[in-house]
Amino acid sequence: MFKQIILGVGNNPLVSKTIGQYGMQLGASRFVAGATLDEAIRVVKDLNRRHMAATLDHLGESVTRLDEAAAARDSYLQMLDMIAETHVQSHVSVKLTMMGMAISEEAAANNLEAIVARAHEVQSFVRIDMEDSHFTTQTLRLFQDVWARYPDNVGVVLQAYLYRTMEDLKALSDPPKNFRIVKGAYQEPPSLAYPSKPDVDDNYVALVEASLHNGNYTAVATHDEQMIGKVLRYVASHNIPNDQFEFQMLYGVKLSVLEDLAQRGYTTRVYVPWGRDWYAYYLRRIAERPANLLFFARSLTKR
Ligand code: FAD
Repeated sequence: MFKQIILGVGNNPLVSKTIGQYGMQLGASRFVAGATLDEAIRVVKDLNRRHMAATLDHLGESVTRLDEAAAARDSYLQMLDMIAETHVQSHVSVKLTMMGMAISEEAAANNLEAIVARAHEVQSFVRIDMEDSHFTTQTLRLFQDVWARYPDNVGVVLQAYLYRTMEDLKALSDPPKNFRIVKGAYQEPPSLAYPSKPDVDDNYVALVEASLHNGNYTAVATHDEQMIGKVLRYVASHNIPNDQFEFQMLYGVKLSVLEDLAQRGYTTRVYVPWGRDWYAYYLRRIAERPANLLFFARSLTKR
């Protein structure tokens, strides 16, 4: 219910204009590494020093013009070059609506192809984020298409709240691929997604176990320590090697837990968003946790 209200109010143009005007002062800087790529790279270097890798996300989604999508593609090419030049341990995460998918699937496919080809050249990796359920089928189609040419350089996200995901996972796992498994951050109807959190949690564990069992490289992306505990018990009891999975968390959320996993020798990665277009991303972070709204309100009163 809280999630519905926050994501619903956030779509109101007046609210988005008001919040957008005050930039990162309204608490968004807790979740966003900076406005520029240089600032984000500095954050990544610090994470690397603490034995955590990163995945950089240039914030932005739902572009409405193809020239904006082309500019977004170019920013990803620049990001991959910068990662290679600075030798930071990071790959990139991309949203296909930022690449123009809501306007033209062909344009989005071409932009994605260019980014994954560059990742191949510089021996990096592109994670395709998963957006709301209008785009699930298209996203998986574009992923499979580019995966056929660059199997080592691209992976996709699967969302545990969707009923369809176990079938998607089974269909995609032969041959094995590279998945990030998340609970899901968008507002979805009960006809498509489990409305109750315990059901999402059960499906989350089932998906991670099935993904590992089928030989996929599996990024376990959650801040839920219960989920992490269950995955650790599963990998230990099924002799899953440490190089078949990693743990991921969002910049600004529970990083001490991730750092602890890194110190215990597990591969870890922080999702590091940067850029000026932080509004939609920030709202999803507030919607995930009611306490973040208080944090946001406090930042308003401090102004
Ligand atoms: P929850 O049960 O929601 O949270 C467990 C605990 O973690 C909470 O009790 C709280 O203590 C803490 N916590 C969780 N969220 C927050 C927060 N925002 N602020 C403060 N504390 C918090 N979703 C997508 O739909 N598509 C994607 O491509 C995608 N990529 C992601 C990449 C990464 C690396 C991560 C970690 C998440 C991603 N998500 C994505 C978001 C995901 O779907 C969930 O909305 C989010 O991770 C919250 O769920 P949880 O698994 O942490 O569990």
